[in-house]
Amino acid sequence: MLSEAGKVIGTELSKKYSFRSRKQIGSQIRIEEPVDQKEKSSRENELLILKKGSTKEKTSKRQHLSIAYEERMLNDSLQKEGLKGSVSGATRTESKKLKWEPDNWREVINNIREMRRQRDAPVDTMGCDKCADESAPPKETRYHSLVSLMLSSQTKDAVTYAAMQKLRQHGLTVPNVLNTDDKTLGQLIYPVSFWKSKVNYIKRTTQILQDEYDGDIPDSVEKLCKLPGVGPKMAHLCMKTAWGILTGIGVDTHVHRISNRLGWVKKATKTPEATRIALEAWLPTELWDEVNNLMVGFGQQLCKPVNPLCSTCLNRNLCPFGQLHSRGKQ
Ligand code: SF4
Repeated sequence: MLSEAGKVIGTELSKKYSFRSRKQIGSQIRIEEPVDQKEKSSRENELLILKKGSTKEKTSKRQHLSIAYEERMLNDSLQKEGLKGSVSGATRTESKKLKWEPDNWREVINNIREMRRQRDAPVDTMGCDKCADESAPPKETRYHSLVSLMLSSQTKDAVTYAAMQKLRQHGLTVPNVLNTDDKTLGQLIYPVSFWKSKVNYIKRTTQILQDEYDGDIPDSVEKLCKLPGVGPKMAHLCMKTAWGILTGIGVDTHVHRISNRLGWVKKATKTPEATRIALEAWLPTELWDEVNNLMVGFGQQLCKPVNPLCSTCLNRNLCPFGQLHSRGKQ
């Protein structure tokens, strides 16, 4: 039986909402088909105060409210992420499908692996991960990794690699670089792009390493990004190369360009950093390391900045840019 308070509240609820049918079970009122769906959640919350029925009925009603609560939470979350649509009880089990990912991406990446099977792009033999002296003391090897990444910005791998060879012959250690005048350092790294600025960055960064890190390099993306001339791309790659820690996708100009051509970003991105965030939103973590090397080499050999070789690309029928490019040529 309903308590007096329950009856009063039940009457008030009947006035407030138009129920198609109600059932009294124990001391609870079960709502069968609410007419006003918008007020469903608030009504169910109000009904909680009628919970004086059997344990079984309480459990049933609580479970239902829990689902409604979860739906609201999920919908709030989706709205915060800027995703349209809402999750209803019928569709909540499909929430995983709401996570965006590009069509056919597994096929696309397998095709790139196939096209990169030879591993004969410049990045494969002269990339930044090939520039450090692995036989040097660990601190020194890590410093080599950082310097090579600083030199590599907007510079071809072969040029960076040659500069690193000269620096290593000169003695690429923190104390030695600090003892080297700017002119000599410039001569050692020339013709690396923006070599004058890079001399300045390397000198200032090396001084910080000496003063604040006991001659070692920082061990986090955040600290690396505070060094002069070091950005997120370098920091993530440095964490992987120097420390063996995967912290994010290293997105350079190749990864940025190809991701946009393939439609691997939900909306076109303007910067490598925006591309990194967009890729990390859907690409499985276990591929974050591989995708940098795959795409860089692919960009060096096939998906070039100008005149990509779409006609020979295995992805030409899967790639929006390739399809457009081919149509334009017909
Ligand atoms: S079809 Fe062209 S643009 Fe697309 S991935 Fe291949 S080479 Fe790049």
